[in-house]
Amino acid sequence: MMFKLGRSINQPINLPNSKEIELFIKREDEIHPVVSGNKYRKLKYNLLEAKKERFNTLLTFGGAFSNHIAAVASAGNLLGFKTIGVIRGEELEHKILENETLSFAKQNGMEFKFVSREAYRNKTSEAFLAKLKDTFNDFYLIPEGGTNALAVKGCEEILTETDEAFDYICCAVGTGGTISGLINCSKLSQQVLGFPALKGDFLQQDISKFVTKTNWDLITDYHFGGYAKINDELVAFINEFKELNKIPLDPVYTGKMIFGIFDLINKGYFKKGSKVLAIHTGGLQGIKGMNRVLKNKNLPIIE
Ligand SMILES: *Cc1c(COP(=O)(O)O)cnc(C)c1O
Repeated sequence: MMFKLGRSINQPINLPNSKEIELFIKREDEIHPVVSGNKYRKLKYNLLEAKKERFNTLLTFGGAFSNHIAAVASAGNLLGFKTIGVIRGEELEHKILENETLSFAKQNGMEFKFVSREAYRNKTSEAFLAKLKDTFNDFYLIPEGGTNALAVKGCEEILTETDEAFDYICCAVGTGGTISGLINCSKLSQQVLGFPALKGDFLQQDISKFVTKTNWDLITDYHFGGYAKINDELVAFINEFKELNKIPLDPVYTGKMIFGIFDLINKGYFKKGSKVLAIHTGGLQGIKGMNRVLKNKNLPIIE
């Protein structure tokens, strides 16, 4: 849209153990260093709408490592919006400089409001939003994780005509906005597989709000214990994958998805001769923060 974008190509992945499956990764992470992958797609029509409605300020919500917070701060900075991040965890107010995501957002001009976990849980209540309006005047509200109808519309632009040749489309799932867009623009002959990065069974319902097709499924075996939870096996996998394919994966979303796809290939999940397309949804800004946590625990880090 409104700033310079990198190209997102489909990169073939060498699968030494499986000659019967073809795997490609769509490099949406290359769109932009921070407003990357699905975060660019999800913001696109929201930012156009905010401009059209003449808002000067964007307000959104997120946790301390949120790719969405980083993307909103960066996009706002590039496009001349003031940005406000409502951040989960009051204790973080004094730890901005220690936190890579928050300090990046701050450098991009984002103003923060730190709230308790309890207040954060009620962030969509009328009362809480009214208070935010009192403090910050008028703003264009982007939901947590950026998912709304305009975000889904943006994600409907991820697949192109040539992608119709794929039998399976795979993506990591957080709030479900990205997979909803993929489902909407898929062919009925294609199967869309979502790999949730967190536990919980609310996703099925959330996705159903945005889609009418039924050619999709959630693969719930690869969340590694929950959101942002990882282990040595996953870190080793991400490092080996990068060394072999020169593609960095993030530990929260895309690392878990590709780990899952490899495991499913080994287990014979995909029918012989299938072409599988995995969407690289970006999220690479989160690696630094995760490595700080790993280092503090004396665990192996992401190279
Ligand atoms: C936010 C994010 C997701 C999850 O997208 P949803 O639309 O919330 O499901 C997946 N991958 C990456 C890298 C993300 O940053």
